[in-house]
Amino acid sequence: MATATARKPSAPKQLPPPNSDFYHWAETLSTNELAVLKKVRAFMESKVAPIINKYWVEDAFPFELLPAFKELSLAGVGIEGYGCFGGSQLLVGLIAMEMARVDASIATFFGVHSGLAMGSIAVAGSEEQKQKWLPPMARMEKIGCFGLTEPLVGSGAGGGLTTTAKHEGDTWILNGQKRWIGNAPWCDISIIWARDVADNQVKGFIVENKTTPGFSVEKMQNKIALKVVQNGQITMKDCRVPEANRLAAGAQSFRDTARVLRGTRYLVGWETTGVQMGAYENAVKYAQERLQFGKPIGSFQLIQDQLAKMLGNITACQCMVARTAQLADEGKLTDQQAALSKAFTTAKSRETLSWARELLGGNGILVDYNVARFFADAEALYSYEGTYQMQHLIVGKAVTGFSAFV
Ligand SMILES: Cc1cc2nc3c(=O)[nH]c(=O)nc-3n(C[C@H](O)[C@H](O)[C@H](O)COP(=O)(O)OP(=O)(O)OC[C@H]3O[C@@H](n4cnc5c(N)ncnc54)[C@H](O)[C@@H]3O)c2cc1C
Repeated sequence: MATATARKPSAPKQLPPPNSDFYHWAETLSTNELAVLKKVRAFMESKVAPIINKYWVEDAFPFELLPAFKELSLAGVGIEGYGCFGGSQLLVGLIAMEMARVDASIATFFGVHSGLAMGSIAVAGSEEQKQKWLPPMARMEKIGCFGLTEPLVGSGAGGGLTTTAKHEGDTWILNGQKRWIGNAPWCDISIIWARDVADNQVKGFIVENKTTPGFSVEKMQNKIALKVVQNGQITMKDCRVPEANRLAAGAQSFRDTARVLRGTRYLVGWETTGVQMGAYENAVKYAQERLQFGKPIGSFQLIQDQLAKMLGNITACQCMVARTAQLADEGKLTDQQAALSKAFTTAKSRETLSWARELLGGNGILVDYNVARFFADAEALYSYEGTYQMQHLIVGKAVTGFSAFV
């Protein structure tokens, strides 16, 4: 008679940890780049992740994070000299992606300050202006914003800014309104783009907004995305700005504004890739833990299909933004290439985020489960820094030779 052998209780199955770097492209980074990213990841996971949902729900900025943010000393990444962090465009992108993997608002706050505001001065400022403004901004003692969009002028900013600049002696007088300006309700320095009434060209101005009479900001309320970033509507009534604060070296027309935007559209591609990574990792964890019909939902074929589709989008976006970084570091990235990457990655992000939200069922619409916030924030990334349609018009003009801008 056969004797039944006692079966040893099997050890609990070790599940693979959620990992959005499926093609191991972190292995291609230098030791220095990896060290920086490790620092950013530690900051985002230990300081930002535990508190960000509360601030997002409350529509408030976490000022309590600023001291630790300053200690990271990252402001001015990609800008050489003037106390800035420096480094390659790849590093600029990687930091944005790493921040957005935990929270897109924090990545945006930093992108507006370091990329748009400091970037405008670095790209279009004179030597004196760089020496004066960049060091305190690199130390994050002064925080900046970037004022281009207006209440009645969004996509058409290239041709139709209504904010005016009038030259009188050694002063410029600014009049008009700006809308959607990130960081504006509390920051120190506003880069304002306005049309010179004399030659009809767009020029950039550094405005010390807290001390310039006639400059006021109203916080925008009731947003459903990037709620942690404080956006403002700026009103300028006869604001007097010295000639020394006009971005003198390279802001003679909207072409120069577009040079700044090229860099930041590039950045949005990285941010939106990070958003997908964060949501995907949370979705994998949920699929491994959530039981239905007595089994983890991650063991169902249709759920695995959804996860594979998300990972495909993420990996495609990572490869695309990595190539834009190579072009940027070689000084070859064109507006059209930045536009294609911004449009493609933000569109894929909406797709990835809707699958992640769906995978969590009802919990996908609860902020507490760390997917809903990404889902909502992806909408803002899709539209800001130029909408999907605007990016495709830029690409369409490049590939056909015909401008379809109206
Ligand atoms: C969260 C957030 C933060 C932002 N931060 C800043 C900031 O810090 N600084 C700043 O200056 N701006 C900022 N913006 C503004 C942003 O860049 C604009 O919202 C964006 O450029 C679109 O402009 P709009 O909202 O006025 O839309 P509109 O230009 O009114 O467009 C509405 C719709 O029409 C489409 N459309 C317009 N023209 C055409 C056309 N010719 N052909 C086909 N379709 C067209 C657009 O694609 C869009 O779908 C921010 C926006 C958001 C949402």
